[in-house]
Amino acid sequence: MTAKILDGNVLSAKLRESLRHRAAELAAQGCRPGLAVILVGENPASQVYVRNKIKACEAVGVHSEKYEFPADTPPQQVLDRIAALNADPAIHGILVQLPLPPQFDEDEVLEAVSAEKDVDGFHAENVGLLAQGNPRFISCTPYGVMEMLSAEGISLRGKEAVVVGRSNIVGKPMTLLLIGASATVTVCHSQTKDLAFHTRRADVLVAAVGKPKMITGDMIQPGAVVIDVGINRLPDGKLCGDVDFESAKEVASLITPVPGGVGPMTITMLLANTIESADRASAK
Ligand code: NDP
Repeated sequence: MTAKILDGNVLSAKLRESLRHRAAELAAQGCRPGLAVILVGENPASQVYVRNKIKACEAVGVHSEKYEFPADTPPQQVLDRIAALNADPAIHGILVQLPLPPQFDEDEVLEAVSAEKDVDGFHAENVGLLAQGNPRFISCTPYGVMEMLSAEGISLRGKEAVVVGRSNIVGKPMTLLLIGASATVTVCHSQTKDLAFHTRRADVLVAAVGKPKMITGDMIQPGAVVIDVGINRLPDGKLCGDVDFESAKEVASLITPVPGGVGPMTITMLLANTIESADRASAK
């Protein structure tokens, strides 16, 4: 079997076209969606992510503002900027690019963002709402994964889903969304004994670990849907996922590539959350 490849660029382009229309409608009603991005330090990967997010905003007509701070900035300066953005009616989404330099308490910074502008879905209030099955903002990467599954018409009801990784950004919200979609969910992490035992039972396998090619074809159930969230840089500079694509695609029925799978969907869902936030603000 050779798996069908789930192309995140193609689906993103389709979704972004409808987001562009919605943004234009809101702008015509006097509420142009606006996103503020805060970047602290000179992490090269973060700089690329921020640049891509700003470019994506421009392409769909979302107003964007970038606030850059040097790595040694005192946390209070960033907190003050967040407070100003919380009060700014032109801004509907605030994103703090992670990771932050060591003098920052990340939780404190994420909690400082108004829960109503927390388009990353990292604020405790929004995590709680998601856990209750009543989300305000869904964090962008798991949201993108759910959109990919839904676009393929994959029903999760009663399926065995296995999530490898339990981070607050990907693994945990992914788990909550899969439970919400009535899958039976197993969560694996660094202390899991016999990872392959679990992954081989998965009808839907989501890998979010950060270890290049660690999930190999022999760890996958024939016909499984394999979603690779990982983004890893190899010594030759190329990107790869947490799944060994070459061996996995011979076993899976559907698989996301890296790059070009979940990555573009993450940015698309950030745009969706920002536009949704503007929509809510305009309805007030
Ligand atoms: P974290 O480092 O925060 O979490 C990694 C998780 O993997 C942890 O829960 C860890 O377990 C688990 N883990 C580590 N080693 C193993 C192992 N040997 N077996 C099973 N589980 C293991 O990473 P993130 O969740 O932030 O990101 C994961 C990957 O996804 C990264 O490659 C990242 O770059 C990528 N990513 C991609 C995005 C996209 O848009 N496509 C967006 C966000 C992230 P424990 O909790 O026990 O330590």
